[in-house]
Formats: sequence, structure tokens, C-alpha cells
Amino acid sequence: MSAQQIASAVRSGRRSAADVLDEHLERIEAREPELHAFNLVMSGQARSAAAELDRRVAAGEDPGPLAGVPVALKDNLCTRGVPTTCSSRILEGWRPPYDATVVERVRDAGAVVVGKTNLDEFAMGSSTENSAFGPTRNPHDPSRVPGGSSGGSAAAVAAGFVPLALGSDTGGSIRQPAALCGVVGMKPTYGLVSRYGLVAFASSLDQIGPLAADVADAALLLEAIAGHDPADSTSLPGGAPPVSQALDGGVSGVRVGVLRELTEGIDPDVLKRMREAADALADAGAEVEEVSVPATVYGLSAYYLIAPAEASSNLARYDGVRYGLREPAPDVTTMYSRTRARGFGAEVKRRVMLGTYALSAGYYDAYYGQAQRVRTLIIQDFASAYERVDVLLAPTAPTTAFAVGAKAENPLAMYLSDVCTIPSNLAGHPAMSIPFGTGDDGLPVGVQVLAPALGEEAMFRVAGTLERAAPVPAPAAGP
Ligand code: GLN
Repeated sequence: MSAQQIASAVRSGRRSAADVLDEHLERIEAREPELHAFNLVMSGQARSAAAELDRRVAAGEDPGPLAGVPVALKDNLCTRGVPTTCSSRILEGWRPPYDATVVERVRDAGAVVVGKTNLDEFAMGSSTENSAFGPTRNPHDPSRVPGGSSGGSAAAVAAGFVPLALGSDTGGSIRQPAALCGVVGMKPTYGLVSRYGLVAFASSLDQIGPLAADVADAALLLEAIAGHDPADSTSLPGGAPPVSQALDGGVSGVRVGVLRELTEGIDPDVLKRMREAADALADAGAEVEEVSVPATVYGLSAYYLIAPAEASSNLARYDGVRYGLREPAPDVTTMYSRTRARGFGAEVKRRVMLGTYALSAGYYDAYYGQAQRVRTLIIQDFASAYERVDVLLAPTAPTTAFAVGAKAENPLAMYLSDVCTIPSNLAGHPAMSIPFGTGDDGLPVGVQVLAPALGEEAMFRVAGTLERAAPVPAPAAGP
């Protein structure tokens, strides 16, 4: 059952939230040991929440658009009194004193939070192998990675553990795992969804967004979480865009640009699906042309200066004083360094060192400053492209899901997984991955729709059309 169907059945009293929850908990019990999508399954709290919803429905209340829908949260979203680990040892034992705004909003919409999902430590990675608690596996083939860093959330949706999950996307961490797991994943416009209570990685890039089995469910979740929040100073004014209404709008007359630079270095079977997607849009009445956004080729390099620079600053707060782990030591300086040496994993340390270096006095302008100039170029090139087209089309990831361990020792190869997703983060634009058939290995392929800032409605129109046109139904791994 989709999230939409569950919500309407629970609201009308045709199904109880408790029953829906039990069905999902059974699925989790059956496959979670093999997949490790969750850091924590909150069965007890979820059961109480479902029982409370059922009481409200029985009393004639309407719990809201997500009534009784089980939702999983990436474990970098703060949950009051419930461990929030970022899949890092350094947060061991920490329980946030407050809920993230998105957590409050999904609960207010009637959703049942079932657990916290695994991620690459502090969302740094593309395979969920950088978790201090061990990797998550791809439900379509457990010898493969689910992508990352929201790999737990993507795997949970693909395995049918939950119809909806929240992830965060700094350079592709919602869209890339969505593509590799054969689900829908969407990064909203910067500022559309509050980050209050999202543990910060790179604040000028981070966004929270939905993962779902289909486009309509992704729209439902986006509508529940989007809209102004005074607690986040980067939050845009205004409410959620009415994306659910856009899905069936079709693409007649919509101008679609195939993003030329992001067709290079992509596996041929993945590229073939993207070209088929472009043809499907043309058949549905869109005007399709190839469009160049030249500076996107520098996106990866700029990102790996800007994101680590911001991370090195954001992660300075984990010093053994205020959060989680503290290693005993004879003096405070030794305590800091022992805590950070033991608490952080190798990739996080690499980013902190890269970022500190890029920001150091003698190199600031050559590295960080130069990366910011490239970022401006990317924004300008997108602006020119969007004078000609309404949306852009690109692959989401260069390959299908790769084997667990295949890139674990090669950071550069891992970084290249995000070459197609990073430009939208640098520009602050929305982008979305939609399952579109499979690669030569039979594993899911995702096609990416990019739009200008606040272009969510056009993006969902195109996404809806692509979903209807997908040549091979996205293989369902859940029971
Ligand atoms: N894979 C990219 C990185 O490691 C993006 C991660 C993300 O979006 N959180 O930084």
C-alpha cells in the first residue's frame, strides 16, 4: 500500500494505524538483520503513537494527511530523548533535548515514526559504508551498496519497511541512494524545508527531503515538511508548493534540456535509460533539446573544497565537552584530541583536515575563495540554461549499485558517485531522482530532473510523466 492509500484508509477508519504498523514491523523483522537499514527501530513508541491515532479516529478526529503512515528518519535528524547518532561514535549516548522541525511536522500530519536509519558518518559518503555501525545493504542485491549517505532511508523504502523516509542531501545524499535502490528521492530548493534539528554537515548546501516508492508519495511528504520555519534563519517565507496537484499535469509544451556536460563519464547502460527518458518526454509533448551548462564540470572540485571547509567548522563542536563521547585525559587539550581521534572515522577526519587546510590563512583565497567563484559561475550558467528550458534532465548517478567494498579504499572513486547531483546543491536548486528501468545488471537506474529555485511544480510534472513512462517497472523488492 502506498502512503496515500494508507492515510486515506486510516483517516476513514477502514484500517487501523496499529494494524498498518504491525504489518511494517513484521517486514522489518524479516529482513532487517540482512539489510541493516536502521540504527534504531522504535517499536514501543511507534505502537503507542499508532494506538493514539486510532483513538483519535474513533473519536471523530482527522489526524492529517499522513495518518498512520510509518515513516523512517535519517539518524542525523534530532529526536527528543531518542539517540541521534549520525552513525558516529562521537555522539555515543547523546539524546537531543528537542525534535527537528521536520520530525514535528510529520508527527503533526499523523505519521508514525518507526525508527532512525543508518547513514555514512555525518552524511559524508556515497555508500553508507562509512557508518560506525556497519554498512547498509541494497535490498535488490545485498552484495551491493544502497548508495549514500541516506542509504538506510533508501533501503528502508525499497525493502517495504516504510512507505516514506526522510533523508538529507548535501551533494546528492537523497537522490543517489534513491537511484541505486529504485525509489524516488527529492532535494528541495535551499530554504524550502527547515533544517532546524538537522545535524549540520555543510550548512550552505544541506537540505532535508523525501524518499518514497512513488512520485505521489514523495509529493505528499514534501507538502507535509515544507514551508517557513522561524527557527531556521535560512528558511524561505511562504508555504509548501502544491506539488501533488502538479503530478498529472503532463508535459505538453514543457521545455526540457538534456544537460550535456553530465552525460560524460556515465556508464552506457545508465546513459541509455536517460536518453529513453528524454524520448519519453518528447513523446508526451515536451520540447526536448540538448543544453550546455559548462561550469558544472567543475562542480565536484568546488564541492570538495566548500563542503569540507564548512564541515571542519561545523564539526568543531564535538570536542568531548557538550556532546556524547569523552575520552578521559590529564588535561583538556589531550581530552579534545583523544576524543576526536577515537570518536571520528577515517572519512570524517579526512574532510576535517581537507577543510581546515582549504581555510588556512595562506591558502584561503586559492582554495576556498576559488571554489566560491566556481560556485557563482555554476549559478550563472544554470541561469542562462533556464532562459531556454524549464527543467534539465541528467542521470542521477554514473553507475548502478556497486559492490560493497568496491570503492571503500578509494575516496576519489567514491566522490565521483556524486558528479551529477552536486551542481544542484551548489546552486541551491531542487532536483529529483525517478526510477527509470534497470541497467545491464538488472539493478535500478535513476533519472534526474533538475529545476531552477522554487521550480518544484514543473519538476513534479515532469517526474509524474516519467514515472508513467518508465519502460520497466522499478523492481519491487519488498514483499
Ligand atoms: N557523497 C557526498 C559527500 O560525501 C554527498 C553527501 C551528502 O549529500 N550528504 O559529501
